[in-house]
Amino acid sequence: MTRFPVADFRQMDTPFYYYDLDLLDLTLAQLLRAAAHPAIRVHYAVKANANPVILKQISRAGLGADVVSGGEIKAALNAGFKADDIVFAGVGKTDREIRLALQAGVGCFNVESLPELMVIDALAAEEGRKARVALRVNPDIDAHTHRYITTGLAENKFGIDMRLLDGILDTVATLDHIELAGLHFHIGSQITDLTPYILLCERINALQTQYESRGIHFPSINVGGGLGVDYANPARNPIPDFEAFFKIFSHHLQLRHNQTLHFELGRSITAQCGSLITRVIYVKEGISRRFAIVDAGMTDLIRPALYNAHHKIEKLNADPEERQLLYDVVGPICESSDCFGTDELLPLLQRGDLLAIRSAGAYGEIMASEYNCRPRAAAFFSKKK
Ligand SMILES: *Cc1c(COP(=O)(O)O)cnc(C)c1O
Repeated sequence: MTRFPVADFRQMDTPFYYYDLDLLDLTLAQLLRAAAHPAIRVHYAVKANANPVILKQISRAGLGADVVSGGEIKAALNAGFKADDIVFAGVGKTDREIRLALQAGVGCFNVESLPELMVIDALAAEEGRKARVALRVNPDIDAHTHRYITTGLAENKFGIDMRLLDGILDTVATLDHIELAGLHFHIGSQITDLTPYILLCERINALQTQYESRGIHFPSINVGGGLGVDYANPARNPIPDFEAFFKIFSHHLQLRHNQTLHFELGRSITAQCGSLITRVIYVKEGISRRFAIVDAGMTDLIRPALYNAHHKIEKLNADPEERQLLYDVVGPICESSDCFGTDELLPLLQRGDLLAIRSAGAYGEIMASEYNCRPRAAAFFSKKK
């Protein structure tokens, strides 16, 4: 789907991020079509990519924002998200961040612990405001994803254990500056088998029934994000199956009267519109391996080094007749984990060739670092059709 303007790329300094804004538009359109229901609100998880151009396009499409820091609150407001459409999550909100959120008037705090709840109540009192809070519950569901990106299991720093929820709800009822917005869940990321979401719906149904018998009603349910993308075939599957995703919830979640259903999607919205464009600096022939040493590294895209993730690597402007060879595609950083792929079958590579490392629009640019005193790579955007 994404067409790369390779002639332009030849003149440009590498590495850089390239964003296909038409694909982002199409993705947002399909997402909104699949989520078109008066009770549903979709928030974009800003942590996936906070590039101002991307954020503005997403806010213009009418999504809300899911943020995890004071910096993200500012980025979201600057991009035009309305404060009321911002939900503020995170296990370690500082006093300064909570005050900023209260002053801005964010729509909801997703609260992850009792001490956090008490601090929000106290700061809201000082600010003369009432904070709307959703309690993040740990539903103890295995999302079958990477250990570092699964969040819904019991042994986890995130969320409140279901067994402690009773006590915390009792406390909420006693706090003058807290208004209960509902319950919040998030079971993990890069989830491609949707079964865990069915389990989540069932868990939520049971919790709602249990609390209704005690007269507690939750105005909203937030089921988080985590929908995965096809890293192996970005060209074949440039847009995730949003319809199948939302159908799971309409079929399995028993939403109550007047209840709103919130989603927080990050990766599924921005991953496929971004690529990291890099140049081959050297081709190094070893004894048993052949290395393509490129000018992008883990400082520009850390997912392979951090989670053993694999992104599809394509040679740009490859001649289809060219013979293919096996390469280890590695970056210049002084870490052995700075490797984008081993035994990658690629058309013959030479110094100066351009490669696209695909699906880099989420958790790419935003996780960049300056390790080895490397400058941050620039971002370029397709011209909108
Ligand atoms: C990271 C995160 C998201 C977004 O996850 P994706 O996998 O990018 O959709 C949503 N909600 C919370 C609480 C998160 O931490």
